[in-house]
Amino acid sequence: MLAAEAIKAPPAILARLKKLGVLRGDDLVLHLPMRYEDETQVAPIAQAPAGVPAQVEARVIDVSVQFRPRRQLVVRVEDESGDLVLRFLNFYGSQTKQLERARDDGRKLRLFGEIRPGFLGAEMVHPRYRVVGDNEALPQALTPVYPTTAGLSQNVLRKLIAPALAQADLSELLDARWCHAQALPAFDEAVQLLHAPPPGVPEAALQQRTHPAWRRIKFDEILAQQLSLRRAYLARRQQGAVPLRAAGMLARRLLASLPFKLTGAQRRVIAEISADLTQPCPMQRLLQGDVGSGKTIVAALAACQAIEAGYQVAFMAPTEILAEQHYLKLRGWFAPLGIEVGWLTGSLKKAAKQAVQLQVAGSAQLIVGTHALIQEGVDFARLGLAIVDEQHRFGVAQRLELRKKGVKSADALPPHQLMMSATPIPRTLAMSYYADLDVSVLDELPPGRRPIRTKLVADSRRAEVIARVRGAISAGRQAYWVCPLIEESEKLQLQTALETHAALSAELSDLRIGLVHGRLKIDEKAAAMAAFAAGQCDVLVATTVIEVGVDVPNASLMVIEHAERFGLSQLHQLRGRVGRGAHDSVCVLLYQGPLSETARSRLKIIFENTDGFEIARQDLHLRGPGEFVGSRQSGVPLLRYADLESDADLVELARAMAEQLLREAPEGVRLHLTRWLGSREDLLKA
Ligand code: ADP
Ligand code: MG
Repeated sequence: MLAAEAIKAPPAILARLKKLGVLRGDDLVLHLPMRYEDETQVAPIAQAPAGVPAQVEARVIDVSVQFRPRRQLVVRVEDESGDLVLRFLNFYGSQTKQLERARDDGRKLRLFGEIRPGFLGAEMVHPRYRVVGDNEALPQALTPVYPTTAGLSQNVLRKLIAPALAQADLSELLDARWCHAQALPAFDEAVQLLHAPPPGVPEAALQQRTHPAWRRIKFDEILAQQLSLRRAYLARRQQGAVPLRAAGMLARRLLASLPFKLTGAQRRVIAEISADLTQPCPMQRLLQGDVGSGKTIVAALAACQAIEAGYQVAFMAPTEILAEQHYLKLRGWFAPLGIEVGWLTGSLKKAAKQAVQLQVAGSAQLIVGTHALIQEGVDFARLGLAIVDEQHRFGVAQRLELRKKGVKSADALPPHQLMMSATPIPRTLAMSYYADLDVSVLDELPPGRRPIRTKLVADSRRAEVIARVRGAISAGRQAYWVCPLIEESEKLQLQTALETHAALSAELSDLRIGLVHGRLKIDEKAAAMAAFAAGQCDVLVATTVIEVGVDVPNASLMVIEHAERFGLSQLHQLRGRVGRGAHDSVCVLLYQGPLSETARSRLKIIFENTDGFEIARQDLHLRGPGEFVGSRQSGVPLLRYADLESDADLVELARAMAEQLLREAPEGVRLHLTRWLGSREDLLKA
């Protein structure tokens, strides 16, 4: 097939193309302009707009090589309206000669560049130029400008792309009538237009990528992503799994022991999970729910089903603090029901670890722990369900490891998987990046929650905040004090935590001030947390180690110092540590002024919103999706053309189309993936 043909070019050029991810003819076809330049018009020098690229035509009056402030070629040109100085800092002798000849012959230069005011009047630095004949026609169409890399000029790229366009297989892979109905042009039309826009194509629609040709390309790109992820999803479903059927006795007993009733959202989500578990293929479900939405009990009820069916459950959390909290909570729920709960983290002493490993290989029914759970030497006897809390905190490798874990168990089948995340991401983002998972959403908070009031307070009013802490404690509550985030250095972070603790201990000398930070030993951390949870300490000074999952209902005040340094989802997570009991809760965001424009709008988002999804949506708007999901990490290549926020409608369309193609047109799927991903698709299968 011509489409996939290798590119014919010297090795040095091929190496540079490779840097751009361009390996085949198809890749050249899909290497689309990042912008366009308008060379269809010539402006009089005096009227050329300043600060934006402009094209002028002028005669050469003077050519000289100057040596101050450094060696440079200075060319003076003029047209009927005015004159202009051109400066070239890098130039060849041949260039000087060419320009002198143009001066002597009275020929014109066609110049493209930005005009700026300079020492000697209007100037262009390093303009693109060409010597032109009298009345030489202007291009009729906009000139594409491609993304490129050092040593690969626009000209070379254009000369490679033109034949690739002529030779590649640009045939339509989608239903032409459907495309027409969606106002999407045919694939070949779209790429031809974007590489060489004919005269009259509205420039704004091209530059802003709203033109139907762009929409078609973006649609195809998202479709390729959807196809690839959905195919991986289907492949995993092909693997067998043990159906976990249970009459629900254990779940009913657990529910009966709880002091609360499930919310409607919890019941709905549990039904979704429960149905998955009874299937003979592995569940791959992501449970999304805002901080405090009650994911733990949902996971525990899923665990009931697996345990009652006679299988083991692994419950993994990203930090020791959180794993231990889960362990204590789950043991409190399950031990009275006669369920054997094990506990495994990296910090266990050797003998204790060996004992747990025996338990895991034998009678333990629920094992809670950190990623130590997936390390060598831990072999489950009959793992049926793996639960991963705060899944985005784990690397892909760790999640895959856990998925493989069950394969080692007696039946050689992968376990069902439930992943949980309290970093709510907007729907289109979820549909795109989690297309290889089923997603359940807890969109309701348990009743009786007091809304958390958020206050933005300048650092200069710290004394008032101290008074507020004192007030909360004398009312019988407790407080968190989150010290400033120092991302660059763990050592400095530790120092800051110690200093904050010392300062607060002095300011609030009659109160009991605790401290937890990342450098503490595991049992020290656990002891500090336990003391706070037991009410033996009034104020807990903490780093972001308390960010996830920590649950102390009596804590009703949180102060975050230098809030402007934290990420929005981090602030939201931190704030979620309060408002967990029946008391009015307050989160004070202390900031150090003056704030930059972005810092101000970020703090405004967190101040005005309590809904994690809404915060995430606005954060996405502010930052773009790349930073959001850490797309590299998620194993999905960044979309080059589509924008998940502005092209949300295309995500929906592509999702539906992917399902249909996978069902009805396997050959079309193959061709589409080859066109878009080529060899890169292997990367996705990992
Ligand atoms: P998250 O989704 O952030 O992990 P948790 O599972 O830690 O939330 O639940 C937060 C708190 O809410 C816990 O103390 C939990 O016991 C409680 N909770 C969970 N579900 C309900 C409910 N339906 N009604 C009342 N309280 C609930
Ligand atoms: Mg949680």
